[in-house]
Order: sequence, then structure tokens, then C-alpha cells
Amino acid sequence: MATLPEKATHRQTRTFNRQLVLRAVYDQAQISRAEIARRTGLTRTSVSALISALLEDGLVEEVGRGPSTGGKAPILIRVRPDARHAIGLDLGDTTFSGALVDLRGRVVASARMPVSGRNGIDAVAAVLDLISELLRRNGTSPLLGVGIGAPGVVDSRTGTVRWAVGLDWEQLPLDSLVRERLGVPVVVANDSQAAALAEITYGSVPWRSNLVVIRVARGVGAGIILDGKLHQGDGAGAGEIGHMTLVRAADPAAAQCHCGRSGCLETVASMGAMVAAAKRLAPRIADEDALVDAFHRGDDVARGVVERGAEALGDGIAALISVLNVGQILLIGPATRLGPAWLAAVRRQAERSALPLLARDATIDLGEARENDVVIGASAMLITRELGLSLVR
Ligand SMILES: [Zn+2]
Repeated sequence: MATLPEKATHRQTRTFNRQLVLRAVYDQAQISRAEIARRTGLTRTSVSALISALLEDGLVEEVGRGPSTGGKAPILIRVRPDARHAIGLDLGDTTFSGALVDLRGRVVASARMPVSGRNGIDAVAAVLDLISELLRRNGTSPLLGVGIGAPGVVDSRTGTVRWAVGLDWEQLPLDSLVRERLGVPVVVANDSQAAALAEITYGSVPWRSNLVVIRVARGVGAGIILDGKLHQGDGAGAGEIGHMTLVRAADPAAAQCHCGRSGCLETVASMGAMVAAAKRLAPRIADEDALVDAFHRGDDVARGVVERGAEALGDGIAALISVLNVGQILLIGPATRLGPAWLAAVRRQAERSALPLLARDATIDLGEARENDVVIGASAMLITRELGLSLVR
């Protein structure tokens, strides 16, 4: 009996070291055993044993020899991208989209499902159908599981969608519903938070341990990373900045928000709101493409609407900077197509509204434009969790 805790501790140490080694390989295109030992602080013997186990599991492979540093040229190791697949889903407004993704975040196959008008348990059935479709298309790579990016307030610790108004979901245990039906590991996250994780997992912009990634799409939401970890808050609603009230409800400019209130940030700053506002003034600006084109052409209507949206977003960012004192803000999502002029307007307003000392320290930049960002991010959450690849660097 007395030996049990010791064995358990030994097993934990081995699991921890294995994840450390896998992370070191994952972080590099290819790496030698000696370099892994140097980066992880483990002995050469331990690293060799752990790499042997990873080779046996097929997670890594040897890819020839690197340059010699005097002695024998070292064998290089890399992650086998196709060793496992994950499924990522984006439960968008009118369409659910999903993809089979490899360990490097590359899409292997994708599928879409129109869901206009489907909500409640019917929308859950659509989720299961879409996953089944992607499962059918998976080849021989073992499936790690399913990551789901859902709109609304989502508690990814319990896999519960606490509230998603468009889908008419309240306290929906989506994680266990999918897990029980399909028998695979599942992670459920807010769509903006998932997209933020795609940015920091696969994006090329260097990120610091405190940052906020804001996604401006049909709505506005953020992933808040503090000390290298996604901060979800006590009720999983951290980052729901789209529903900060920036226009007083009594103001005639305060538009109705789908959350039931009026004057929310996303009624002005989201791509959806900017398109709607432009369309009211100039019916030819009927969709996102038309708005982006008109804005780049210098069209007055488009400029007015986008500048108003950028100002509201700048005010929202100033509030975040004041509360969190984060030094790095990245903007992602379809609105980044509005480019440097939009970014400049956002920066200008954030500087005007935040405490000058804090505003000076903060950078606001565009992240990497990425189609499928929610799908990729949701699968990244699943992959990093299942393989124990902590996002902390
Ligand atoms: Zn709202």
C-alpha cells in the first residue's frame, strides 16, 4: 500500500517529462536529441528513452541528419503531422462549418452545413451530423477528438454552452452530448476565444504572456490571455466585450442588440453592424466584400461607418487596457480586411481614451488573417489538451 503514491508520482513525472519533450519537438520544425535535452533540462538518457516511446507511438519521426558540430551529425526528430487528426467546428449563424485538421493545424478535409432556422435540440442534431460526416472522411489517422467553437457564453471547463441566443441554447451540456453519442474526447469553447487560440498557436506574430486577441466578425469577442493562459473568468464570460454598453440606451443612436439590450459595442463596431449601417445609407453596399471595396475606394458612406465602428472599438480597447494593463492587443477576423486605415483609426481612439501612460505601453496590431480561424482554433484547443502541449511558453 505504501508504495502506491510513490508509483503514482513516478508515473506523473514520466507523463510530465514526455509532454515536455513533445512540446520541445512541436515548437521546432526539427530538432536533435541533444538540443531537446538542452531545452528541457532533462538528461540525454531520459530524452532518448522518451523519444523512443514517442517514435513507437508514431507521434514523431526521424528525418535525417543535421549539421555536425564537431562529432557525428545528429539525427533530427520532428512531429508527424498526420500522426493524429482532430475535428474542429465553427457553429456560425447560418452555417455550421467543420474540418479535419492535422497536428500542424492544416485542413485535411472540410464540410459545411446550412442551419438557418435550426435551433435547440435540432441544432444539436446538426452538430452531430456534421461530425459524423467528417468522421466518414477521416482516413487512417487516429482521431484525437472534437473541438467546438460555439457563439455565446461557453464554459470550456465543463463543456457547457451557458447561453447562445441565436441557437436558443441555455445551460446546454454540449460536451457530454457529443461525447456520449460519438465516444471521442470533446472540448467546447467560445468562438472568439477559439480563434484567439488559433492565432497564438499557429500565427506568426510573436506574442507575449499577457495579450488580448479581439475578433471582429459578425459580432465582437475576445480571447484574454493572462500569464500565458486563456482567462475565462468566474462565469466563463471573460472577453464578451461586444456587449459592453458604449452608447447609452437613451441615445437615439443606440441600436438594438441581439442580446436583448441596446447600445452594445458590437451594434456599432462589428462587421455585421458596419455592413448594416452602410446598407441603410447606400443599398449597393450589401455585404462584407462590398463594404471592404467601398472603404478602400474612399467611398464617403463606407468611410463614415467604418470610422464610427473603429472609434467604438478603440474605446472598448481603452477600457481593456485600463482594467487589465495588457501590453499587446491583436485584431483578427474579417474586419482586418479593412486594413491599415481601420487599424489607424482604432489606435487613435484607444490612445485618446486610455490613460496616456498605459496607452503608450500598449501595442495594437493586426493578427494573421486566417480563414477558418474558429475551426482551426477549436481543433488546436483539443490537440493541445489531448497531447498535453500547454500553451505557456
Ligand atoms: Zn449586446
